[in-house]
Amino acid sequence: MAKPTTDPPDLQILVGGPFPTGDADGMQVFFLAAALLKPRSRGEVRDGIRLNYFDHADDLPRLLEGLERVETAIHAGAIQALTRGERFSPHITGTADLEAWVKENAWTYHHPVGTCAMGSVVDAECRVIGVQGLSVVDASVMPDIPSANTNVPTIMLAEHVAHRRTVAVAPTRVAATES
Ligand SMILES: Cc1cc2nc3c(=O)[nH]c(=O)nc-3n(C[C@H](O)[C@H](O)[C@H](O)COP(=O)(O)OP(=O)(O)OC[C@H]3O[C@@H](n4cnc5c(N)ncnc54)[C@H](O)[C@@H]3O)c2cc1C
Repeated sequence: MAKPTTDPPDLQILVGGPFPTGDADGMQVFFLAAALLKPRSRGEVRDGIRLNYFDHADDLPRLLEGLERVETAIHAGAIQALTRGERFSPHITGTADLEAWVKENAWTYHHPVGTCAMGSVVDAECRVIGVQGLSVVDASVMPDIPSANTNVPTIMLAEHVAHRRTVAVAPTRVAATES
């Protein structure tokens, strides 16, 4: 279980919308969702992609805590005033039912990383270990999912590696452009 004092944040509350419903009265909807940023379950890519959600015992309780926080937020007066109290997601109270519902309905957060993890597949310069002249520089080299969405970290990583590579092959040119 993540320790708030030492571990990076592992839960994120997402807000999306407003989306039109197409109703004649112009009603719009929005959502609040809980995301587990740092799941401990590990998927694998072999003959297919196996995600193995909730394989690690820590993940389901953590996501349930995220949902609890969403519940707290949607019962706050400011949000209730926006929603007329209506919601589409089921009202589930029993823990077993809630766990079953989460397992059935949890969905990807589109942040897969690590199929060419630094340290095992590539070295610290993103060169594929044991293969000359081949590098991988993208989200797949992250050994772990960052405690954030992955797009900006991927760009940052690629810029960083590109810079280091350029410094290595053309140090004087880089120094001239940076001065
Ligand atoms: C639906 C969705 C929503 C997302 N929303 C967010 C978000 O809101 N915020 C956020 O931070 N992250 C988001 N992400 C995650 C983010 O997009 C990825 O983490 C990031 O794009 C990873 O970058 P990448 O370079 O590793 O891979 P990609 O961006 O997937 O780049 C891989 C590139 O390689 C190309 N390619 C693949 N195979 C070959 C081949 N054989 N030859 C040549 N080219 C090839 C592909 O066409 C693609 O252009 C989202 C992802 C998805 C799928």
